[in-house]
Amino acid sequence: MKHIKVNDLLNGSNLLQEVTAKGWVRSFRNNQFIALNDGSTINNIQCVVDLDKFPADLLKKVTTGSAIAVKGTLVESQGAGQKFEIQVNNLEVLGESDPEKYPIQPKKHSLEFLRENAHLRVRTNAFGAIMRVRSVLSFAVHKYFQENGFYYVNTPIITGSDAEGAGEMFQVTSFPLDGSAPKNEDGTINYKEDFFGKQTNLTVSGQLEAETYAMALGQVYTFGPTFRAENSNTSRHLAEFWMIEPEVAFNDLDANMDLAEDFIKSVIKYTLEKCEDDLNFLDQRLKDEEKNKPQAERSEMSLIEKLNFVLENNFKRVSYTEAIDILKASKPNKNKKFQYLIDEWGADLQSEHERFLVEKHFKCPVILFDYPAKIKAFYMRLNEDGKTVRAMDILFPGIGEIVGGSQREERYDVLVEKMKALDISEEELWWYLDTRKFGSAVHSGFGLGFERLVLFVTGMTNIRDVIPFPRTPQNAEF
Ligand code: ATP
Ligand code: MG
Ligand code: MG
Ligand code: MG
Repeated sequence: MKHIKVNDLLNGSNLLQEVTAKGWVRSFRNNQFIALNDGSTINNIQCVVDLDKFPADLLKKVTTGSAIAVKGTLVESQGAGQKFEIQVNNLEVLGESDPEKYPIQPKKHSLEFLRENAHLRVRTNAFGAIMRVRSVLSFAVHKYFQENGFYYVNTPIITGSDAEGAGEMFQVTSFPLDGSAPKNEDGTINYKEDFFGKQTNLTVSGQLEAETYAMALGQVYTFGPTFRAENSNTSRHLAEFWMIEPEVAFNDLDANMDLAEDFIKSVIKYTLEKCEDDLNFLDQRLKDEEKNKPQAERSEMSLIEKLNFVLENNFKRVSYTEAIDILKASKPNKNKKFQYLIDEWGADLQSEHERFLVEKHFKCPVILFDYPAKIKAFYMRLNEDGKTVRAMDILFPGIGEIVGGSQREERYDVLVEKMKALDISEEELWWYLDTRKFGSAVHSGFGLGFERLVLFVTGMTNIRDVIPFPRTPQNAEF
């Protein structure tokens, strides 16, 4: 008999029928009630076992973590906490799990412990919820773009250009690492003899390639793995993360901001609708955590309230120059987090500044735009003032930067001059410059770190906890 998903059983559509369910035992209370979970929902189905009907040595094998199949009648439950349960007629243990050795006990484990068991942590309620939400969010990303006339472009993972990621790139080579790689006369490695005939890296962004596609297909997006050898160990950076990068021909910076805001709201709205149980669970989990904090540090809004707040309010659009004035004028706060205040126009904002603007000053998501050209990438459109570029960063409460984007420099001469000043090789980027040589036009786009979005939506605080197998310095165990 085909087994039925727990999520469907809990809807009661098979009431009073003989059903088969398969899943993993979460607990076996009083040797009578099996809480069975199959991953289809955060909720378990209760399976009621009549002890006299089953041999004791079979029941002994029904332990937390074991895989079982039950056959029985779906009935309305008399007990509190669930509407339906299975009266078990037939019980089979498919895969045992030694309770002495199984790392995931039915108790609350620390996030650090769970990170060390990244292959098993998804068996907990919290990680099951996070990973289902992540999956729905990623579907929402495709859904939004596909429904709005964008084409999905797979930009390369291995790239031959390193214009963007100076110092942050992971190199790709087919040479053995035993020192036998062919050398040039000056002792440096001769990449002409390497697999691709040149030095190659893992991509740090698909933007430049996506731009070339936008200049033909009009509206494109890429959503793929991105690699950065981030040296610092922060709770916001991974060495391998997923980036969403739309690029739109004929869009200026204002249209780019509109797109980013509409996109973020739309995917959050979809996820709120589709992941009600999981988000309610994560919401409650956070409320429980908040209770352990001193009153002053507690969040004013619950997770669900925060998500709805984002949907219901306009993001505040503020120029970099205005932001600097605000930061200069703000007195050091008692809360140490925000004591680091800025004094110079032209400085890059630290995450303290970003969080001050979002969490203390504006108290809503902020889009900062028109940054000093000096602190932004070479391809951003220079403003008429000659000092600032049409860049935007979107800053979110609890996270800081979630989006970085810009209107791109569409003028060939200005772009080349900028590249020269920054010592970026025109020869290497000849293909990129072709977009400006042939049919150039205003265009814009942004990059959104998918895990930062998942962080916000799940209310988690460490980026290692929202990706299945996090890669960070000194950590690629799995
Ligand atoms: P940050 O200032 O946080 O280091 P960035 O300015 O270097 O980010 P961008 O190059 O603007 O990042 O990339 C676009 C987006 O990708 C960022 O806004 C962020 O959401 C995400 N992102 C960047 N680096 C990482 C990383 N190492 N891990 C996860 N997400 C990242
Ligand atoms: Mg960075
Ligand atoms: Mg940044
Ligand atoms: Mg950025």
